[in-house]
Amino acid sequence: MRTGPDDHTEPGALVVDHARRRGPGEPAPAERAERAGLGPHKAASGCPPEQRTDELGTRSPPPGSGRRTQSSTVAIDIPTDIARKWQEMTDLLAEILRVPAALIMRVEPPEIVVCASSESKGNPYAPNERARLDTGLYCETVMKTRTPLLVPDASKDENWTSNPDLKLGMISYLGFPITWPTGDIFGTICVLDDRANHYSKAYQALMEQCRDVIEMDLKSIFALDARLAEEARAKERLEQQVAERTADLRHANAQLRQKIAEHERTEAALRKVAEERRCAEEALRTSQELLRAIIDSSTAIVAVKDIEGRYLLVNRRFEELFGVAREAIVGKSDGDVFSREHAEALRAFDRRALLAGTALKDEEVMPEDDGVHTYLTIKFPLRDVAGVPYAVGGISTDITERKKIEAERALVLDHEQRARTAAEAAVRMRDDFLSIASHELYTPIAGLKLAVQGLMREATTLPVGATKLARMAERQCQRLVRLIEDLLNVARIQADKLDLKLGDVDLRALSQEVVESFDVELKQAGSAVSWRADAPVVGMWDRARLEQVVTNLVLNAIKYGRGKPIEISVAAEGEVARLVVADRGIGIDAGCVPYIFERFERGVSAQHYGGLGLGLYISRQIVDAHDGSIRVESELGAGAAFIVELPLRRRRDALPAEVSPPAGGPDEPAG
Ligand code: ADP
Repeated sequence: MRTGPDDHTEPGALVVDHARRRGPGEPAPAERAERAGLGPHKAASGCPPEQRTDELGTRSPPPGSGRRTQSSTVAIDIPTDIARKWQEMTDLLAEILRVPAALIMRVEPPEIVVCASSESKGNPYAPNERARLDTGLYCETVMKTRTPLLVPDASKDENWTSNPDLKLGMISYLGFPITWPTGDIFGTICVLDDRANHYSKAYQALMEQCRDVIEMDLKSIFALDARLAEEARAKERLEQQVAERTADLRHANAQLRQKIAEHERTEAALRKVAEERRCAEEALRTSQELLRAIIDSSTAIVAVKDIEGRYLLVNRRFEELFGVAREAIVGKSDGDVFSREHAEALRAFDRRALLAGTALKDEEVMPEDDGVHTYLTIKFPLRDVAGVPYAVGGISTDITERKKIEAERALVLDHEQRARTAAEAAVRMRDDFLSIASHELYTPIAGLKLAVQGLMREATTLPVGATKLARMAERQCQRLVRLIEDLLNVARIQADKLDLKLGDVDLRALSQEVVESFDVELKQAGSAVSWRADAPVVGMWDRARLEQVVTNLVLNAIKYGRGKPIEISVAAEGEVARLVVADRGIGIDAGCVPYIFERFERGVSAQHYGGLGLGLYISRQIVDAHDGSIRVESELGAGAAFIVELPLRRRRDALPAEVSPPAGGPDEPAG
């Protein structure tokens, strides 16, 4: 069916659209359609989906149909069995009406498609052939007007002269509109003839019946489609629900897995806590057993009471001493074990420790089978984790023996103290006595000495025997004076009165003078003196004091080195003057060396060697006063060497401020 672009059919005009039969040598329908500019449309067997435009009467989309195009046409495929039925229908119509073409057309804007075409002689229309709309087709008019159209002879009707079908030789046309149950236009059913044809009323009624059958088919197709669509939607909903449910389940699964993992973690943590707790309990048990073993093996009494004074724990020593089992004492108080008086004392100490909040130490007495014992007790509050005291612990050590020893020691100490005090008093008395005696003795001895010296001046007038006796008396007098001077010097040193009278002194000359003065004693002892003194050694010293030092050392060498040679050396070495007096006598025991420079200390027995034990003491005091030093080098049985070192230059600030009294005695120069 073809028409020219401007060849419109007037609405309402009942015109028959004739399709001419294809003559010999004429092109096939598809070829003709292509020539008309409609393209070589091929459709599958059966009717293709139909499309409709609003212009063609589309009113509303079919309910529930998912297959309506954007232009609101119903797009439902015609099932094969119905397509076959429609084919038979067109074949019958062509045969009954004796026309070359009976067609069922379906609109698919912007085209119209041959849905079924009779297999009849001279039919130029092939199934699925397409033609553009708005070209003045008979069927287009039928669809637009929604009314049947009868064109008995288009060749004589100027309204249809440009009709495309006319060009195919189809000069008559009878067509009826076909609608979907929705009211949308499906297309047309039509017959075309290559001759003028008025189509009788019977034919028209037959055509209408056929149209109704087709509409019934469409109705059932539509219902089926709606049902299928509904089923598809239901399936879609179901699938969505399944998807949602699956997602929910997946989510729930994930949560469950998470919960299981958490649960497993919690269980692991709980297992760990339980294990730690077991270990802690084990450790606690071990430490309790250890504590129990320690307190049980202690000789001290150990007890723990709650703050009300009820026993919580005691050790074995407690059980043994007080004859009570630890299981029996738990919950009991001191009053159940001890006398009222003793229990009160114990409890009072507990309270003091609790009140003090710290450990307190005190002595306690406890009556026991063998008498009253003294204990040194330490009491201390025990606190819970919050720091609140819940008990008081006590450790009591039996110090009865120690107390006895301490008492005895105190007694001994007291005796010692008394003895020391008495000895010190005796020493003081001795010193006082010596001081007084030496003063008192010095005066008559000095008088005696002067008298003997006066006698010696008269020696030439005396008989020989008297002179000898006078000399002996003089030496004994000198010896006596030296002893008394020693005692006086000790008294001075004790009173801190050893002042020095400094002046230039030649130590070599002084030493030689001293040695010469003991000429007689040296001869009597049989000791020779050898010298090593090459040059004078002059320093700022106290002459009389140094004479005393040299005298003491020389007299000791004579006394303890009797019959043995004596070596004396005097020399200056740098800033120091050194005097050495060495003998080859008895020597000194090494154990005595540290003491021989002390007052009244002696290294020999008084029976064998006379002396007061003061010479070295006084010598060291004098040397110390000169900022010098004195020491001894000795070997028992091989002699002794006393070494005196004196500074050659004294420091200015060490010079004495005042001149001291002479060393010889209280009233007389030394000599
Ligand atoms: P004393 O000679 O009167 O006992 P000293 O103070 O002079 O007192 O000497 C103290 C002690 O030193 C002497 O008793 C003696 O034991 C010992 N001693 C001193 N000089 C010598 C010496 N040259 N050889 C051996 N012993 C000596």
